[in-house]
Amino acid sequence: MPTPGILKGLAVTIRRFLETYIGDLKRFPHRYAPEGRYRRLRPGERGAFTVQYPEERLEMFPRFRGALMQLTDPQTGLPKCTACGICARSCPVGVIEVVRAPEKREGKFVPESYTWNLAPCIFCGLCVESCPFGALCHSPEFELSTYGRGDGQLIFDLARLLALGRKYAPDGVPPVEQEK
Ligand code: SF4
Repeated sequence: MPTPGILKGLAVTIRRFLETYIGDLKRFPHRYAPEGRYRRLRPGERGAFTVQYPEERLEMFPRFRGALMQLTDPQTGLPKCTACGICARSCPVGVIEVVRAPEKREGKFVPESYTWNLAPCIFCGLCVESCPFGALCHSPEFELSTYGRGDGQLIFDLARLLALGRKYAPDGVPPVEQEK
């Protein structure tokens, strides 16, 4: 004989099961969220809560620690980074290498090369916190897997980091500050 608690639990399961179909019907005839951008359900909202990845993707939170990115100063078009090397020194696993360019550009130091090795990175965020110029921050990029370490995809050079910065922070404002 099922106890009231079991019956109550079953009722919740069946209700949630049916609600996912009702949520799907609301989108009919489109199966996926517009442009593949799945909006998180707000507290109290009911409906489909299965993300049809990879056709649909959740938007990451501004504080999400995805791949590193380098920000560009929109006024000068130069990297905000001054190649001071503080981020490299603060990294506990040594995944950042910075080389300063011999010549200043527009009166400021700039990096000649900047390399972030994703493979041993533990995403602690100490590099981002330690940067005194706000040049480095985490992007929402999370699809970073590759088929092998030897293909170089896990090594991010300056051009790649700046491209991520232009994509996610075109005004040079980190995502955490964009939400304010
Ligand atoms: S990212 Fe920031 S801490 Fe790292 S070298 Fe550039 S300016 Fe210095």
